[in-house]
Amino acid sequence: MNKPLKQHLIDPEVCIRCYTCEMTCPEEAILHDDNNVVVDADKCNFCMDCIPVCPTGSIDEWRVVQDAYSVDDQFGFMELPEQQEFSQTNTEAATGIEALDDAIAQLLAEAHQGAGGKAKAPATASKPTVNMYTLGKPATAKIQGNYRLTENASDTDVRHIILDFGDLKMPVLEGQSVGIIPPGKDEKGNPHLPRLYSISSPRDGERAQYNNVSLTIKREENGLCSNYICDLEKGAEVQITGPFGATFLMPEDPQAHLLMICTGTGSAPMRGFTMRRQRTTGADNGGMTMFFGARNAQSLPYHGPLKKVPASLLKTHLVYSRAEGHEKEYVQDRIMAEQDSVAKLLQNPKTHIYICGLRGMEDGVDKAMTQIAQSLGTEWVTLRDEMREDGRYHVETY
Ligand code: NAP
Repeated sequence: MNKPLKQHLIDPEVCIRCYTCEMTCPEEAILHDDNNVVVDADKCNFCMDCIPVCPTGSIDEWRVVQDAYSVDDQFGFMELPEQQEFSQTNTEAATGIEALDDAIAQLLAEAHQGAGGKAKAPATASKPTVNMYTLGKPATAKIQGNYRLTENASDTDVRHIILDFGDLKMPVLEGQSVGIIPPGKDEKGNPHLPRLYSISSPRDGERAQYNNVSLTIKREENGLCSNYICDLEKGAEVQITGPFGATFLMPEDPQAHLLMICTGTGSAPMRGFTMRRQRTTGADNGGMTMFFGARNAQSLPYHGPLKKVPASLLKTHLVYSRAEGHEKEYVQDRIMAEQDSVAKLLQNPKTHIYICGLRGMEDGVDKAMTQIAQSLGTEWVTLRDEMREDGRYHVETY
């Protein structure tokens, strides 16, 4: 009889199919089909290289199994299998697994520094639909609008793209993502993988009660998908996968406070959250605070609309790193400058933190939060992990 073994799996409900883990794995142990991204147990050597690059924490799943789930088994998963009950008679095997557990825990603790970590949805979040449209069975949407959000004088070209799904069901929640499949083939002759974009509209549509969804897309120099989308005209058809993501979601509790920290197009989900609150809550709400970093006002997406959100709903800190006549400032600098109000938010059990944008900012935000937590006589790492476990700390950085 085989000894029980520890198997690395990926949560298909949380995974956003960005394929970063697959591109990172040095053993080529991670692969995908039209449906799922999976780990080949015969090849995985627990090196953990894939753990910190995963923006959602869906990569961080482990099961003790008698026989490993095959790649084909995993391709068929709609959700992760439960951990099976184990009648452990083989002490040698048990010791081996415990030792492996310790080694994995150690590696995970190291890998999670600066990474999204294993995320949990807010307790009061609505249940998301995931993976309805796949690589093999994508949805076709029509471009309903393509508007430049940044000033023409700015060299940052960020677009507000509106997708019309017509009669096709596309149930999304704020904070989820969709994939866009660029047309054509890669240099190996394979179809391109979808590129992931956060939804920037609320669940009931970019325009309320319309079956449309908006995205916030920055034109990247030589970017295959971003240039494809940013050049699309009204009426053009686009192939879409998703929706993806089951944890970076907003609480339904109107008394929850949302502390949103973002850079550049990482503001996309925050727009969805804000519009949802604007459409559903009255004056009696838990409030929202946003720290939003961009190079300057001209390149900050949604600068005008953001300024118009009532202060009773949203407190905004727009922070510029390259504005003429201003000192360079990053979101973490402003968080420090506002440390008293942030400290109050950290003490509020109804505060949910959302961080989205450049991976580099995570470190800076962690450092600022460490100092603020210290001023409260507590450890940020402990508080952060408690909040994450409580479904109140969410990170999506690339
Ligand atoms: P960007 O314009 O390159 O940068 C936005 C701001 O962040 C700039 O002011 C930049 O300052 C500043 N910044 C740079 N390094 C920083 C650091 N270590 N700490 C704090 N701030 C820092 O941003 P972007 O190109 O829009 O990129 C946004 C990121 O969000 C991308 O990685 C993207 O993949 C990700 N994202 C996008 C979406 C979406 O739906 N489109 C969704 C989720 C996440 P300087 O340039 O002056 O240094």
